[in-house]
Amino acid sequence: MININSFNDLSWLPLIHAPLDLAAVLLLALGIKGLGKVRSARAANRLAALALAIAVLGLLLQQGLQGWPWLLAGAVAGSLLGVLVAQKAAMTAMPQLVALFNGCGGMASLLVALAAAALPTQTGLLALVSIVVSVLVGGITFSGSLVAMAKLQEWLQTPAWMLQPARHWVNGLTAASALALGWWVCSGHSIALLPLALLSLLLGVGLTLPIGGADMPVVISLLNSYSGVAAAAAGFVVGSELLIVAGAMVGTAGLILTQVMCNAMNRSLTSVLFGGALGGASATSADQGEYSGVTSCSPEECAMTLEQAQRVVFVPGYGLAVAQAQHSLKEVAQLLERHGVEVSYAIHPVAGRMPGHMNVLLAEADVPYDQLIEMEAINPDFPRTDVVIVLGANDVVNPQARTDASSPLFGMPVLHVEEAATVFVVKRSLGAGYAGIRNSLFECPNTSMIFGDAKQVLNGLAQELRELGVGKTTKDLAKVA
Ligand code: NAP
Repeated sequence: MININSFNDLSWLPLIHAPLDLAAVLLLALGIKGLGKVRSARAANRLAALALAIAVLGLLLQQGLQGWPWLLAGAVAGSLLGVLVAQKAAMTAMPQLVALFNGCGGMASLLVALAAAALPTQTGLLALVSIVVSVLVGGITFSGSLVAMAKLQEWLQTPAWMLQPARHWVNGLTAASALALGWWVCSGHSIALLPLALLSLLLGVGLTLPIGGADMPVVISLLNSYSGVAAAAAGFVVGSELLIVAGAMVGTAGLILTQVMCNAMNRSLTSVLFGGALGGASATSADQGEYSGVTSCSPEECAMTLEQAQRVVFVPGYGLAVAQAQHSLKEVAQLLERHGVEVSYAIHPVAGRMPGHMNVLLAEADVPYDQLIEMEAINPDFPRTDVVIVLGANDVVNPQARTDASSPLFGMPVLHVEEAATVFVVKRSLGAGYAGIRNSLFECPNTSMIFGDAKQVLNGLAQELRELGVGKTTKDLAKVA
């Protein structure tokens, strides 16, 4: 019988952890679902954070508030660090940040499993297998994520010897030794856990280091999935249903995202994992050959064409994020809309450097969500578009992906911008994009390059449009008169 009248009797506390766990799981599931849409993403993120706070509270109550100062101190320190790092990280460094967070998740699972292994209760086969999986996958996730982060941050390059085919044998041997040690742990020799942890860390480095920079975001998504698997295994270790469910959700979501990214980049997961430093490094000199017949123009000439347009599509890419030109873009779009032009934005699934990069960037400038049109939906509309302005995008608008079977990009779904009446490409040079290959769009007869930083060009364009009277309200015009 629960005596709720007595403040000293806290024996009822563990009983309410189950409903709290259930609430946390439901909120987490709703949060993950909400992240699928730009409109609900912010609220979904808060919902998921609330779910985690409830989960921590549930754990505290389950333990009858035992050791609460430690848990609270850990939660506060972790939250403070998270807020600091997230606020400092640039938008373009988001994949690195995600990699770092994944790595922390992997290391947490590894440490939980190692600590649990020291308890005398962890002797059953399920407990031992869970400990082994947690240590193995957690270790691979931790070191692999750190390597991925360092490579994306350009702190680390793939050494030439790492690209030798022999690396597959070395990795295979390391994996086989780790599995053998895991087997040994399961047969009651917990002494093998530390060498297992060491081998799993080595394996994470060996598997991730040879992978090229262009494929790294896919690897990060896969490591995110691994961190979920490691957390689920840690859930079995500590007997937490919540951790099992949350880990399984993260593991599945990461796997689905990995598949979506592979499809959008026209890469198979096997070629990403075992293909070595593809992407930028795969481009041959023929892919980067000289351009001929390229025309360029000024923002002024572009403004004059826009003045006559009825339908304009902007194509944002990585360069727009680098230039942080989203607010300047919104200004140009608003001027055109006030002039009666139909404006939309073509969103390629892998434009930028992380899934949803362009959606997030444009949301920062409060671009209306309904103007963001996905690739499949907008491609049929390009032939009836008067002007396309490509802003710091390159690979995602490369027609060679459709026309040149010898191109490394061949087969990757791209935006068919060349089908519009006029195309302006805003970038600083004729330099290649992430895939490191030339772009035949620049040579199309209906394409004009506008060389310069995206922000400066867009600011110049807004100025020219204003001088032409584009976007002026009746009040503005009355003032001029
Ligand atoms: P991109 O092909 O990487 O091209 C970006 C272009 O931006 C460059 O050619 C660069 O040209 C230009 N640029 C850089 N700074 C600029 C500035 N300040 N102002 C104007 N232009 C600037 O970009 P993308 O078309 O967005 O394609 C994304 C690529 O990343 C794809 O190859 C995709 O497969 C890969 N990728 C994406 C993801 C993802 O999740 N989104 C994941 C993995 C890989 P200049 O130097 O001449 O200015």
